Amino acid sequence: MKNLQETFTELLRRAATDLPADVESAIERALREERRGTAAHSALTIVLQNTAAAREASAPLCQDTGTHTWYVYLPDGHPTEEIRKAIRGATAQATRKSYLRPNQMESLSGVNSGDNLGAGHPVIHFVPWKKPGLHADVLLKGGGCENCSTQYSLPDQRLGAGRDLAGVRACLLDAVHRAQGRGCAPGILGVAVGGDRAVGYRAAKEQFFRPLHDVNPDPQLAGLEADVLSCANRLGVGPMGFGGRTTLLGVKATRLHRLPASFFVTVAYMCWACRRASVTVAGKDVRFSQTALAGRP
Ligand code: SF4
Repeated sequence: MKNLQETFTELLRRAATDLPADVESAIERALREERRGTAAHSALTIVLQNTAAAREASAPLCQDTGTHTWYVYLPDGHPTEEIRKAIRGATAQATRKSYLRPNQMESLSGVNSGDNLGAGHPVIHFVPWKKPGLHADVLLKGGGCENCSTQYSLPDQRLGAGRDLAGVRACLLDAVHRAQGRGCAPGILGVAVGGDRAVGYRAAKEQFFRPLHDVNPDPQLAGLEADVLSCANRLGVGPMGFGGRTTLLGVKATRLHRLPASFFVTVAYMCWACRRASVTVAGKDVRFSQTALAGRP
């Protein structure tokens, strides 16, 4: 139990201070796209300098160390309470070690809990699997980008969007246009087509565990992801909304069944600081990685 808490503390350190390689590469590519001397170029330069400095110092990439969403894969029937305790202990420990800033506050009083623990936080999902060990994925998502997440109910008269792929596309571009760089662009869209309102948000957020370079095995969604990414980057919103060629770093979509009466399109918006990390524990063998199981298409 003590060892597991230490492992999870290290996982949180990696998530909070070390931007995943695929995200950093996408920002480097974006920098090469922007013209020197522009605000967009300097914004991305600062982001990359900040990323290197955070990694070097084991300091948070951003002062908002976010809402933590965990997916823990463990053998069917394995008691979950000790895992939950280890995650909560690790959250408090990582806060004491300043890998995390104390951010969680009671909603009405505004009183900060001081250790990032509180009602509903961290968010923990358990997933049974057939292997003997345990695998955990954690995602840290800031509040500024969460404010840009949104949900549409099709048909949408304002957008002229019907209940089809073209309607979904219209929603995604509208969400990016309305964000106007808020939520610290360049961002990443996690998208769920269908489901109900609650499941849509969960599935949309799960998409952030996917590496930016993967290709959706669903050809329709792969086409949607590529098309929206390319169109969004021609809107001219740019990094932090300063104008430029990179408004999004990626689009990741999934589809769910729905009822005949409703057609939701849920858009989770993630900032450039897409912080995630994974660990697999099998006996004494502990392997950290940037390869998540959650969100796989
Ligand atoms: S949106 Fe992201 S980068 Fe911006 S302040 Fe929040 S966590 Fe930090």
